[in-house]
Amino acid sequence: MRHFFFVMEELRNLDVKRDLSSSDKDRLLRLAKRLQATPEAAYEERGTVAIWRDFLGEFGIPMRWGLGGRAPIVEWGSYGNASVSVAVTADLDAVGVPSGEAWRCEHTCGHFAQSVHALGLAHYLYTYSENQEVAVRVIGTPGEECRPLYDRTFPLPYMPGKRLLLNEGWFNGTDVVLSTHLADHLSTRSVQIVNGASGMVGVRLTQVKFDPDDDRPQGVRTLAGFMELWQDELRRVIGRMSRVRTRSFTDGIELWFDIPRACVLTEEMAQESLARVVKHSGVEARLISVYAPLTQSEALRKTALGVLKSDPFAPQIHRVSELPGATDLGDVSRLYPTLQLFVGGTTGSTHHSDFRVVDREFAFLWPIQWLVNMMAALSAK
Ligand SMILES: [Zn+2]
Repeated sequence: MRHFFFVMEELRNLDVKRDLSSSDKDRLLRLAKRLQATPEAAYEERGTVAIWRDFLGEFGIPMRWGLGGRAPIVEWGSYGNASVSVAVTADLDAVGVPSGEAWRCEHTCGHFAQSVHALGLAHYLYTYSENQEVAVRVIGTPGEECRPLYDRTFPLPYMPGKRLLLNEGWFNGTDVVLSTHLADHLSTRSVQIVNGASGMVGVRLTQVKFDPDDDRPQGVRTLAGFMELWQDELRRVIGRMSRVRTRSFTDGIELWFDIPRACVLTEEMAQESLARVVKHSGVEARLISVYAPLTQSEALRKTALGVLKSDPFAPQIHRVSELPGATDLGDVSRLYPTLQLFVGGTTGSTHHSDFRVVDREFAFLWPIQWLVNMMAALSAK
């Protein structure tokens, strides 16, 4: 505790209230329950958006709307003009789980917790904060999960939500981006500071065409030929070889490659490369999606460590080099210093049905205080 005050005294904008009120906490825990019970597919998060509207409306907090009403946004302070402008992202969608021929949605990636953190922060700022140095834009982002992975009828190529929000200008004026995510199998009062995550690129092969007049070797006209050409092309463009995973369906096959960290593959580059391979292989293929690798800002990691070490809850800090799984925050991290903190109080693995929150207070409420403390630390810089 003493240590906490010692560090906080060094911050110029000491508006960090010690804790949320117990009625705030009850309200936020109820919010978590409601969000978890409303799992929705990418770009169909209407119920989740309505829950945001209800919560913010209750406190009279004004909202803005991105992506034609699909992205609820809350602003605090003069974004882009304050000493530091912080974007805080919260994914809105759930994960599609195959169920016979169809699929249903479940919140197995824990995205509902991100909404609790983001809305808790918005409420905190509007209720308690007098910090004029920092401006915050809380962005509810639809479509983080790659929907074609579970919904094969969804139009290709798939554009994840943060890429659409970037294109619409919602990150303009941003100095840093903060986000939270529940971690896999992480005991309570523990967090993970992660260096980054690899990206991924997927293509769907639908038809192998044989042209009798085509005198190219048979090999390049086969699936194996396509694989080889696509691998060569990616090696040439990305610079390094990456892991491949295949998924087969009755009507085609999907190839997924990892994009190693620090490698760049934009959607445009992928489309150009794929067009070349399609032309030379005679295999019909379409780009499913590109997720850029996530690079976590080193400066933000240091700030976060400082904030965590002075936290009265004294969470255990685990340093992790790389997490599996791609995120559309990768796109954002190419343009802005970004940090996503992985929060414990869970069992099981994300994207699996055994994933559970076991410490609701830590997983849902503690990150709000961490975000508030980060705002104080960033505005003191
Ligand atoms: Zn996730």
